Amino acid sequence: MCGIIGYNGVKNAIPIVINGLKNLEYRGYDSSGIAYFLQDKVKIIKEKGRIKDLESILDSSKPTLCIGHTRWATHGKPSRENSHPHQVGMITIVHNGIIENYASLKEKLKDEGYLFQSETDTEVACALIDSLYKKNKNKLEVFEDVKKILKGSYAFLILFADEKDTIYAIREGSPLIVATSSIGNFVASDIPAILEYTKNYYLLLEGEIAVIKQDSVHFFQDKKEIQKELLTFQFDLASAKKDGYSHFMLKEIHEQPTVIQNFLEYYLDNLELIPDISLYEKIHIVACGSAYHAGLIGSFLIEKYGDIEVEVFIASEYRYKKNFLNENTLVIFISQSGETADTIACLRLAKSYQAKTLGIVNVVGSTIAREADQVIYINAGCEIAVATTKAYTLQVLTTSLLAYKLGLKTGLIQDSEKILSDLKKLPDEIQKILSIDYEKLAKKIYKKHDIFFIGRLLDYYLSEEGSLKLKEISYLHSETYPAGELKHGTISLIEDKTPVIAVLTDESIYEKTISNIKEVKARGAYTIGIKRESLEVEENIFDDVIEIANLNDLAISPLAIVPLQMLAYTVANLLGYDIDKPRNLAKSVTVE
Ligand code: GLU
Repeated sequence: MCGIIGYNGVKNAIPIVINGLKNLEYRGYDSSGIAYFLQDKVKIIKEKGRIKDLESILDSSKPTLCIGHTRWATHGKPSRENSHPHQVGMITIVHNGIIENYASLKEKLKDEGYLFQSETDTEVACALIDSLYKKNKNKLEVFEDVKKILKGSYAFLILFADEKDTIYAIREGSPLIVATSSIGNFVASDIPAILEYTKNYYLLLEGEIAVIKQDSVHFFQDKKEIQKELLTFQFDLASAKKDGYSHFMLKEIHEQPTVIQNFLEYYLDNLELIPDISLYEKIHIVACGSAYHAGLIGSFLIEKYGDIEVEVFIASEYRYKKNFLNENTLVIFISQSGETADTIACLRLAKSYQAKTLGIVNVVGSTIAREADQVIYINAGCEIAVATTKAYTLQVLTTSLLAYKLGLKTGLIQDSEKILSDLKKLPDEIQKILSIDYEKLAKKIYKKHDIFFIGRLLDYYLSEEGSLKLKEISYLHSETYPAGELKHGTISLIEDKTPVIAVLTDESIYEKTISNIKEVKARGAYTIGIKRESLEVEENIFDDVIEIANLNDLAISPLAIVPLQMLAYTVANLLGYDIDKPRNLAKSVTVE
C-alpha cells in the first residue's frame, strides 16, 4: 500500500523518483507527490489522481535529491490537500501507515499553536517532529522521542529544512529498503522502485533509522550507529516488467507452470525444508484475503492426511479474540508480502502465548519471515498485479507439501508415488488449461450483475478464491456458498440466466454438489462447471464446462483455480478495467 521512494545522488532526481513511483504503482494509490530543495526552501508538487497528473504539473528543476509518494488514503479523502508530502515548519515528510493516536496528538499540537491544512494523520506526525525538533536539535534524539510518542505503523522519509543534503528514513510496522548504486543512494518501500539502478539493498528493520547522503548511507538504532548486511535481490528487472503481456496479472497467471515446476523441483529434492508439524496438539492457520483461501485448502489437506485438528482464521478477527494458545499450538501465517499488518499482529500475539509459529511467505527477509520461528519461502518471484495468482497457487502447494509430509508419517498416504507423479504433472496440465479460449465464456457473464460460485469442501474453498478474483478486478458482484447452503436463503436470488459456477474436483462429495446444481438449474440458472474429467455427470447439468485433469486432491487445487483466474481476467478485460490496479485495492496491506 502506498509507495515511497527517495533518491540522493548525482543525477536529476525528479525523473528517477517519478520512475520509481511508477514502478510502485502496483501497490495501489489515489494521489502522488514529490518534494525537493529549491534554493533555500523545500518545494512540494502534489496532485490527486494518477502519476501522469503529477507529471503534467512538474517544472524544469533538476535537483539531485528528491522524495516521492503515492498515497493510499486512510485518513481523509483522496485530494490534493491530503496527498503527501506534508510540510510543517522545518519538516517535510512522506508516510506509509497509520498513526493511531493522531487525534489526541493533534489537539495537543493545536494548543502549541499548530494549524493543520489536511485531514491526515501524517500532517500531525509532521507537526510533532517539528515541535520536538524546535526543542532539541539532536535529530537522533528527536527520532527516539517520535518512536515513543507515535502509536501505529509508519515508514517516514523526512527532510529537515536546515540539512539540504540528507534524507532521513525511519520505520515501525511499514516496510522500507535502502539501496546503494553507482549513481547515488535510494530509499523505497519496495524493490521494484530501484531495480533499474541497483540490486543491492539493506532491509531497514523495526525502529531503525537510515541517514541517506549523496555518497553514503548510515544506520542507527537507539542513537548508536549500526552496521547492516548488504543484500542482493535475486530476481532481475524482467520479473518486474510485463514481457509483452497486456497486464502483469496475465503474465503472472502464465508464469504458474514455471514457478510450480521450480517450486516442486526445489522442495521435493529438499523435503527436510518442509517442517514436520506432527508434534502439535492443534494447528491454527491465520491469513487475509486469498492467503486465507489458501489456508482453507491447507486445513482440509492437513486434517485429512495429518490427522491433526486445524482451524483457519482471518487475521483481522483473530487478533481481537480469545484463541486458547499455548506452546503445543502451531500457528501458520500465510502472507505473500510478509508485511500484512493484521497477520503480523497475530504472529506477535501467538508468540506472546509461547505458541510455535511458521510463516509461509514470498518476500525474503520480510517481517513475518524474520519474526516467525520457521519460514517456508514460496519463491514466486515478484508478484506485481494486485490480484494474486501465482503466489496463491504456491501457497496452496506449500500446504499440500506440509500435508504430504504428515501423511507419510501417519500412514494416511499410501500411494506416495502417485501423488508425486500427479504433482509433477501440474505444469503441463496448467499449460493445457491456459490454452483454452476464455473469451466465449466470459462474454456470457460479463454483463451480469450477480454471479454465484458453489462447491463443497475443497471445491468450496476454490470457489471462494474464484469469486474473490472476479470481484477484485471486474467489480461484478459475486458470492460463494458451500453448495448445500444455497437453499437456506440465497437460492431466492437465482433468476432466469443467473450464472452459477460450480467447482467439482472432489470425488467423495461431487454427487451432492450435482444435486445442488440441479436445484439452481431448475430455477433457471445458467450453469458453468469446472470439473475433474473423470467425474461423471449427466448431460445438460452444465451449460458450459471446463474439464481439468484427473489429479489427486494434494495436486488438483493449483490446477482447478487456473480457469477461474483466467475467467476473472477475461471478464475484467472485456469490461476494460485497470486490471493490475483495481480500484480501492492495494497489493501489500500494511495498515490494519
Ligand atoms: N495515513 C496516511 C494518509 O492517509 C498515509 C496513507 C498511506 O500509507 O498512503 O495520508
